[in-house]
Amino acid sequence: MESKRDFGFERDLEHMRECYRKGRTKEASWRVSQLKGLQKFLKEKENEVLMALKQDLGKHPAEAFRDEVGILIKSLSFVLGNLKQWMSSKKAQLPRLALLSSAEVVPEPLGLVLVFSSWNFPLVLSLEPLIGAIAAGNAVILKPSELAPACSSLLANTLPTYLDNTVIKVIEGGPDVGEQLLEQKWDKIFFTGSSKVGRIVMSAAVQHLTPVTLELGGKCPIVLDSLSWSWEREVAVNRILVTKFGFCAGQACIGIDYAIVEKKFASNLMELMKIMMKKMFGENPRESNSIARIINKHHFLRLKNLLNDPLVKNSIVHGGSMDEDNLFIEPTILLDPPLQSAVMTEEIFGPILPIITLDKIEDSICFINSRPRPLAMYVFTKNEALRRRMVSETSSGSLVFNDAVIQFAADTLPFGGVGESGFGKYHGKFSFDTFSHYKAVATRSFLTDFWFRFPPWNNYKLLL
Ligand code: NAD
Repeated sequence: MESKRDFGFERDLEHMRECYRKGRTKEASWRVSQLKGLQKFLKEKENEVLMALKQDLGKHPAEAFRDEVGILIKSLSFVLGNLKQWMSSKKAQLPRLALLSSAEVVPEPLGLVLVFSSWNFPLVLSLEPLIGAIAAGNAVILKPSELAPACSSLLANTLPTYLDNTVIKVIEGGPDVGEQLLEQKWDKIFFTGSSKVGRIVMSAAVQHLTPVTLELGGKCPIVLDSLSWSWEREVAVNRILVTKFGFCAGQACIGIDYAIVEKKFASNLMELMKIMMKKMFGENPRESNSIARIINKHHFLRLKNLLNDPLVKNSIVHGGSMDEDNLFIEPTILLDPPLQSAVMTEEIFGPILPIITLDKIEDSICFINSRPRPLAMYVFTKNEALRRRMVSETSSGSLVFNDAVIQFAADTLPFGGVGESGFGKYHGKFSFDTFSHYKAVATRSFLTDFWFRFPPWNNYKLLL
């Protein structure tokens, strides 16, 4: 029997715990210096970061800056501007019965935390949780995804120059390293990835009663109402296309998985989409520099199989060409693929957009509610009644009207899933909260007391 490889990080972890116990990470000055270290990293290594993203995913530098570097620069300045206030304890009231007393809620770090990240946004999904963990004063192990090796090794080799390497470490590796990390005792596990591995993480966490945040995926729908003006339709279609095809080629957890439209609007929509796709990606999308590549052969073949399903093949109305050597899949639109086909039951995570037509746009509520709750939902409408119904009658991690993915860039909104798309929230103050424990601290004076709070009990005391 093959013996399990020992990656030998136990001693490192023990040392990190020791440093944490001695209070190394708790001072505001330490937290600020590490966050500024990350700012310096992004500034000085911007070119290397953009090159690594090109290498791993074929992302154009403009796309990579928009979705990764730019987002992180913004997040860091938001956290640095608010950290002092977040770290301060907040006064709380005690019941009047506790005379001459005071109380406060004191945020404290959790300890040594583990962050797993995914490959599709390898920088932002690694560093955004790291920012929260540092801001809250924790020691951190970050394990990036092995499927984006250039980004993973850039983080592992470069971050130690900018951060306090005694309490913040990057450990590279795949599932074997991940499994061994999960055997350790953590004070928090923050996981971004698939629900399959999310279940493994959760069952490992049970062992030590470790709190977990699971940032998972699923099928995010968009509902497109047949807007009254042609210019509104153009704005909507532009936003939909850039989110589906110009956002890591559809390999995005909050990207659009499928669209729902009214039957009567479908052919008009299709024509509009074809015209606008040509504007974005040219006559020959294969030559476009604006479509990211599929991460690896495994995922390429998975997507190819989705399209090669004979039932699905007949529903291709645009695109469908592929280039295995270059891991390229042309932006592809499907019209009404069978609902029982894999393309409609599994998360697509690629540049394939099924369009489902329904008689009435209001039927989309029932359609969405009969499936697992999505990480994100997008609705393009000017109908106020539909808008209200979407808010009150559907459930999703986030809900955006008339645009998509903008919620990811907002430091003021909680980011996370619900139901099968995960649980726990982060970004901005929500990240700080995710990596903090809020301790209740109460102080009572010795001066006064009430005689009726002490035994012996009698009925008179009960009445009081
Ligand atoms: P994954 O679950 O395969 O991998 C995620 C992380 O877990 C990686 O670091 C990987 O090395 C590690 N891992 C894999 N197998 C492991 C094991 N057996 N034990 C321990 N660790 C293990 O997911 P992925 O392919 O990186 O990402 C795709 C999925 O992630 C999609 O479902 C997508 O929707 C979801 N996702 C969610 C978000 C979000 O913010 N909610 C963001 C990106 C991706």
